[in-house]
Amino acid sequence: MPDPTASTLLIQGGRVLDAATRSAPFTDLLVEHGVITRMGPPGLPAPPTAEVVDASGHLLHAGLVNGHTHGGTNFVKGTHDRWSLELLLNGAPGWSANFSMAHKMLATRIGAVEMLQKGCTTCYDLSFGFPLVTVDELFAIGQTYVDAGMRAVVAPMLQDISFYSAIPGLYDALPADLRERLNTAPGDTAWILSQMEEALSNWPHDKTQVRLGIAPTIPLHCSDELTRGCARLATKYGAPMQSHVAESKVQAVAALQRWGHSLTAHFESLGMLGPEFTVAHGVWLDDDDLRRLAAHGASVAHNPGSNMRLGAGIAPARRMLELGVNLAIGTDGALCADNQNMYEAMRYASMASNVRTPDFNTWLTAPEVYTAATAGGARATGFERTGRIAVGQQADLVFIDLNTINWIPMNDPVNQLVLAEEGTSVRHVMVGGRWVVQGGAHLGTDLKQLATDAAQAAAHLTHANAEGRYLADALEAAVGSFCIGLCRSPFHLHRYGGPPGL
Ligand SMILES: [Zn+2]
Repeated sequence: MPDPTASTLLIQGGRVLDAATRSAPFTDLLVEHGVITRMGPPGLPAPPTAEVVDASGHLLHAGLVNGHTHGGTNFVKGTHDRWSLELLLNGAPGWSANFSMAHKMLATRIGAVEMLQKGCTTCYDLSFGFPLVTVDELFAIGQTYVDAGMRAVVAPMLQDISFYSAIPGLYDALPADLRERLNTAPGDTAWILSQMEEALSNWPHDKTQVRLGIAPTIPLHCSDELTRGCARLATKYGAPMQSHVAESKVQAVAALQRWGHSLTAHFESLGMLGPEFTVAHGVWLDDDDLRRLAAHGASVAHNPGSNMRLGAGIAPARRMLELGVNLAIGTDGALCADNQNMYEAMRYASMASNVRTPDFNTWLTAPEVYTAATAGGARATGFERTGRIAVGQQADLVFIDLNTINWIPMNDPVNQLVLAEEGTSVRHVMVGGRWVVQGGAHLGTDLKQLATDAAQAAAHLTHANAEGRYLADALEAAVGSFCIGLCRSPFHLHRYGGPPGL
């Protein structure tokens, strides 16, 4: 089969988004071996062998980067209403067990197809961790992204402390007959790290397309030994790391109770912070935390939709930028997103910033939001030659049909992309010069077959996880009321939409 990226493409007649100048000048692009090698006004000279792509009537923007998601959750989108983060974690045994390798690949594929169809060409996927995944299954999850034609960081979520043991006082607050049925034994730290190292040292995929990362999932869920081990492996293998840091007030308060300092200070003391480290959420970070992240060149993946969905609060995105933290944007997984729509995530990021203050001078601008969702995400994922349309960059391009209702008429293109587009105008998508979506359809995917396979898998897993779901449901009231109580603790930050003190 000929290598599709080996051909030379002349993309002509399109308008290329320039967010900084809020314009979209007519620009031709020459793409060679998947890389943009020349750009210029209409009439760009090209080799006679170049294949011409007619982009007239289209706006081209850089492929969006989903800075935080969970590919394993795509069977359970929309299954829960009124869930906080802690209820979600309590509920995990009700959906996350008993996945075969085929289930893991299928769940991942559903998310990849959705993201690509909605203009997202790269994601940071916090996937199943050991012992819920094997090394071979991680390779298969990586292969799923290769086959879908998407870039990804696949980072297994690691923990050796159970959710019920991670929050001081929670286990003791549960009804005695129910808590005895929970498995709260610590994980085998050395074994988890040995599996992670085996996966890192044998990763079979092209790292310019799919990288293996490490995700010590929540600082409170990781022993110091596990966290230090992750940092050591990340340095040894040049692997990116991501963790859910200060996503909820419960976490921020519990950190002070356990360690006497913040989650970020704790991670810094264990060698976790660096340019390859990304905080997911960061809702309850203060200026001291943000300065520590900025000093290490770290990133935050801001998930405004998930944070609102789970009632976690509104993250201080403007302050992150002011203090020099690299800002990316994510949807989060389908349990709490529930879709994988980066246009929606951008719109949420814009509006969530506005409701924090009447001072519009501090609101995120549309160019800032777009930059976070593209170049900011590219930096966080480590795919540095993506996230911008420029000479020398990979041709990860989204073709927006300007003859759709979102763009009639086209006024300010970056405002319209962030505030009006919701994915329905995406016509074509290419990753590294290779077509992955044409005419709105993902190439190589039969959606009817995907639906049949997903329905079968969901039915099987619903049945197989019935007991875990029963126990989680029985615990929900106790977990919920304990955590609401913890959220009433005095804390020096307020991130909720309602008044202080709940
Ligand atoms: Zn998450």
